Amino acid sequence: NKKVVLKDYVIGLLKESDMDIVEGTITLKLPEGSNEILLKNLYLSCDPHMRNLMSNIQDPDESFVPYTPGSPLEGYGVAKVLESGHPDYKKGDLVWGFTKWEEYSLVPSSLIPFKIEHTDVPLSYYTGILGMQGITAYAGFFEVGLPKKGERVFVSAASGAVGQLVGQFAKLTGCYVVGSAGSKHKVDLLKNKFGFDDAFNYKEEPDLNAALKRCFPEGIDIYFENVGGKTLDAVLLNMRNHGRIVVCGMTSQYGRAQPEGVTNLTSLITKRIRMQAFLVTDYYPMYPKYLEYVLPKIKEGKIVYVEDIVEGLENGPAALVGLFSGRNVGKQVLLVAHE
Ligand code: NDP
Repeated sequence: NKKVVLKDYVIGLLKESDMDIVEGTITLKLPEGSNEILLKNLYLSCDPHMRNLMSNIQDPDESFVPYTPGSPLEGYGVAKVLESGHPDYKKGDLVWGFTKWEEYSLVPSSLIPFKIEHTDVPLSYYTGILGMQGITAYAGFFEVGLPKKGERVFVSAASGAVGQLVGQFAKLTGCYVVGSAGSKHKVDLLKNKFGFDDAFNYKEEPDLNAALKRCFPEGIDIYFENVGGKTLDAVLLNMRNHGRIVVCGMTSQYGRAQPEGVTNLTSLITKRIRMQAFLVTDYYPMYPKYLEYVLPKIKEGKIVYVEDIVEGLENGPAALVGLFSGRNVGKQVLLVAHE
């Protein structure tokens, strides 16, 4: 049972050498009386948040527990049920939920809340558009952002798993949408594949304030925050009165011993901005409603989705590290095994 384990707690920027590939053994049989499920992992989701779980820092809010060195990484994935001790699951079911970075996993059924019912779309989509990131984009944009037709929306890390969806949901709502991303290729994707009205490469435009002023001469109504730091600081100067900042993630700050200072927070007061964070897990009850919204749009080509699929558990560490330099183009997925 090949696995990707954390060698030791990580300080600073994540490196491939912080993880190891090890061979373990697993009995492909459920222990007597177990109500767990035995999974064959097929696709694993590479998520920036996983870096937060690699630091030896107990989250003061106790909303997450760090990984244990020597144990496999844990995260979202798509898997096939090999054996089930829980009546809701049976052998052969396809599921998505929380699993481990290894070929086979024994997990409590409570961590695998979703059975995959629609298989006429790529299975890997359940690590993204039809999984946790999809509900994140949907709930964050609609429930927290409360968009109205004609509003001006800015999305950072816009070509990533969540960003590409937020941009497209915003266009379908009749908003004006601009995204930032870290390469020319990604900017082209934003404008020509995902239908953003405009986009810029933040690595080539260090004056983010000027870039935002050019794209939003009348200011931003909704900022969908994925990166934090300097981007947030520049956005604060460009928000409109009564704008909303949807705090989804702050990838640029993950793993930093000292978070970057944000200096323009008084704009929140002068512009009466609502800045609200959210956790996707609170919105899981919306999943059926989200599927109803998104599945037909995928099938009709009204929403497109770009994935970056890397094959083989041994390539997992590099895929994960790449999230922090922007090596991934679209949703970073790790293919562990075919069905
Ligand atoms: P992405 O697919 O967007 O991958 C990460 C991207 O972030 C990279 O490709 C890179 O793109 C960008 N990036 C990395 N480092 C920096 C940096 N220093 N400055 C600016 N951009 C950077 O990830 P996801 O779509 O999966 O996640 C997006 C965010 O949403 C994350 O912060 C994640 O933690 C958060 N999230 C929050 C949830 C919640 O419940 N609130 C649930 C799920 C995700 P580029 O080349 O453009 O720089």
